[in-house]
Amino acid sequence: MPEPTTNQVYRVIHRNEGADAEQGIIKATLDLFLRTEREQEGRRPTACGTPLRGSSAYNCARRIGLEVAQVTECEDLPYETLLAFHLGRAMHERVQSGLHSLWSEFQSEVECDLRPLGYDLSGHADGLMIEGDKRVVVEIKTMTAYPFKLAMKGGKTEAPGPKIEHLLQSGIYAYGLHADGVHLVYISKDASYRDGVRPGMTLEFYVGMDEVVEPYDRTLRELVVEELDRMQGIWEQVQAGQIPERHIPGHGYVEMVPSYQGPSKEQPWNCRFCSFNTDCRALPTEAVPIEFASTNVRHTWNPPVTPTV
Ligand code: SF4
Repeated sequence: MPEPTTNQVYRVIHRNEGADAEQGIIKATLDLFLRTEREQEGRRPTACGTPLRGSSAYNCARRIGLEVAQVTECEDLPYETLLAFHLGRAMHERVQSGLHSLWSEFQSEVECDLRPLGYDLSGHADGLMIEGDKRVVVEIKTMTAYPFKLAMKGGKTEAPGPKIEHLLQSGIYAYGLHADGVHLVYISKDASYRDGVRPGMTLEFYVGMDEVVEPYDRTLRELVVEELDRMQGIWEQVQAGQIPERHIPGHGYVEMVPSYQGPSKEQPWNCRFCSFNTDCRALPTEAVPIEFASTNVRHTWNPPVTPTV
């Protein structure tokens, strides 16, 4: 990777001056380094070259559509997000190394290909292990204090427990690998002393594929099949040259798109962290043909040719 030049570093400082008066030369250098590294790594391929990936489960339909069409993201990720990504990755590797050390049959980064089941989707499960007489998919999630507290104690309107998107992602892998259930591991990356959350706190949840998930009143297997059908439908829309509707599971249609990185009172939160925000808000809520989209979307729309199994 070419080394960043000092001129580039000063440009980063200048660019961030308004937003961050404390911007120093080390942070600016790291910012540039992480950004350049990300650009050079390019789009992360899916496990088996499929258009859909398991980690997109329960995401906004339009966002999944723009991702599978390989549209170039129009928003820059904040420095903090770029750095936090590496913290999460390091934590994943520690957990996987720990499990390898004691569980001889533990496998990490297990490839899951859903094409034989009729879905153009693949992914890597963080782990697969035998617990008693059960084959179990392990999924590790590192998170900030607030979602960790919700999982541990619940919130005003939600019961404690794992998030549905994590259950669906790991459930999709379990479905593809014919496993019996999922074992979710949550690790807190930071502290909230008011909520009794400390960095490194760890929660675990086991859910069987045929166990009923509350409050959905359906088994995990049924929820997984429903989600796979939705995701496959989004891919079919993209193949037909349609940008999918602005619809977020658990929220519904998005009429007004909150601003990118905007105030936390703006909902749905998903849009505040969506790297397609500006291109999305220029379009109506409903599905539209690609011809209606911004120059960036039209010029970079490039759905993959689906490989055969
Ligand atoms: S900005 Fe919101 S509605 Fe638009 S694609 Fe992103 S998450 Fe979906």
